[in-house]
Amino acid sequence: MEEHRLKPRSSYAGSCIILTTQHAKSIAVAPSFWNKLGASVLEYVVDTDQLGTFSGEIKRKGNALECVRRKCEWPLDRFGDKIEFALANEGSFGPHPRIPFLPCDQEIMYFIDRRHSFHLYLSHLSEKTNYQMDTVDSLEALHKFAKIAKFPSHALILRPNNRESTELIFKGVNSQPALEEAFLQSRKHALDGSVWIETDMRAQFNPSRMAVIGELAEKLAERLALHCPECGIPGWGKVRVETGLTCSGCGSKTQLIKHEIYGCTKCPYEETHQPAHGLEQAEPEHCQYCNP
Ligand SMILES: [Zn+2]
Ligand SMILES: [Zn+2]
Repeated sequence: MEEHRLKPRSSYAGSCIILTTQHAKSIAVAPSFWNKLGASVLEYVVDTDQLGTFSGEIKRKGNALECVRRKCEWPLDRFGDKIEFALANEGSFGPHPRIPFLPCDQEIMYFIDRRHSFHLYLSHLSEKTNYQMDTVDSLEALHKFAKIAKFPSHALILRPNNRESTELIFKGVNSQPALEEAFLQSRKHALDGSVWIETDMRAQFNPSRMAVIGELAEKLAERLALHCPECGIPGWGKVRVETGLTCSGCGSKTQLIKHEIYGCTKCPYEETHQPAHGLEQAEPEHCQYCNP
């Protein structure tokens, strides 16, 4: 990134950014916002479970983006003009979009800036997750799952294996005695004698997830530290890519990235940049004609 884009002083120096969270996410977010922007992060602690829980007792209303935006707007609606900057995060877990069976953590971070009147969100996909679930019917199977799930540094959720039941559920289980007790209680109430077990994905119970949120916070803070060369508004950065890098063998277009387009959060100004891979042409191995 060219130096002139970095103003000597960030637009957010000395500001307070309100982070809606129930799960202590400022641990992951605050360092980047302080180091890159000189801004403090203050938690607005609310029961975000009403927007949905990972363990399924409350289904998420709308998609992850709608959900994170609602979380972000919460303190703005509540406290009105007293708040200028708000931030929220939402995670989703499941198979990698291109690599089946590889579990992934997809995080979105949403930022609202009322002073410069723009919204900006970034997402981040990471395979650094312990996300998994299973049914277990013996202590041996229980401990095997626990080991793979990085227990006890990462907490677990247990319940009788009739998934629809939400009456008996043990969340945030993070000690051996609590694990065995939750297993025995759940098994006693299960119709088939087995126990549903899953990783607890709430950030303060899951250091792997906290680290991924930290990586995304770093990306967002870096983005907010850059200003549009045209209008000076913060949040300048990569907004999309264009594929079609030509093949060095036959000259046809490949799926490799040809350009990265940088844009502003507010005005229509854009710039075309060289892609991060730095290639002028694609190797024929990436070409559907040379290497079908
Ligand atoms: Zn070719
Ligand atoms: Zn601009």
